Amino acid sequence: MNELELIVDLHQDGPRQGPGSSAETLLALQLTGLDTDRELQIADIGCGSGAHTLVLAQNTRAQLTAVDLFPVFLDRLEEQAQRLNLHERITTLQASMEELPFETGSFDAIWSEGAIYNMGFEAGVKAWKPFLKSGGYLCVSEITWITNTRPAPIEEFWQAEYPEIGTAAQKISTLEKQGFTLAGYFYLAPESWMEQYYRPLQERFPAFLERHRHSKAAQAMVEAHREEIALYQKYKAYYSYGFYVARKDRA
Ligand code: SAH
Repeated sequence: MNELELIVDLHQDGPRQGPGSSAETLLALQLTGLDTDRELQIADIGCGSGAHTLVLAQNTRAQLTAVDLFPVFLDRLEEQAQRLNLHERITTLQASMEELPFETGSFDAIWSEGAIYNMGFEAGVKAWKPFLKSGGYLCVSEITWITNTRPAPIEEFWQAEYPEIGTAAQKISTLEKQGFTLAGYFYLAPESWMEQYYRPLQERFPAFLERHRHSKAAQAMVEAHREEIALYQKYKAYYSYGFYVARKDRA
């Protein structure tokens, strides 16, 4: 297995592939003010196994198009959608977020939790905007500094991992420059990192190492995740995922 396959293998059985929670998905939905009794069209980009896709389907009458690069995640989502009898309103699509096959003006909302960093926040906002209807909503979570200054070790770690990390003011400014108006912003609670994401991930480390016979690559991957978790526990006062809900300006 190459590194990409290993990382997919480590994450495929998780309840989520990034920080978040049902309550926060619903809060973002509420901030849009969209009428959930309508048959809204929503795209969910980088959906992973789609914990939030299911929450959106359960709490609206929307038609959802759930997109991810890796079919194993989409298979998981489809299994759950069948089990919950939501499959008629969730369509999965294997595609890259950088080359989405959508028509312009297709969606009332574009959703993306913990995934836009794969192409970069500004590039994603720019590339996805045409797919929204005029007045449609972009609902996106993105790693964000929650204080104006930070201790050097955590600043250096995130600058190396993702140089586009910024404060909420910087992210909101990017949205405004790209033709959006902010409808609401909040950041994810620490439990949405630890209980929803990191703790289940830690619990999967032993089986993952076993499955890969403690290969060097598997050990290195677990070690990197352990380091990330330790940094989070030490420095969680300084960063989180910001959840941005922004309306596409009417042209
Ligand atoms: N939204 C999910 C998954 C977040 S992890 C959740 O919150 O649980 C990021 C996701 O982005 C992964 O599922 C990964 O497979 C997907 N991804 C990475 N690069 C991508 C790309 N270029 N196009 C589409 N999806 C991508």
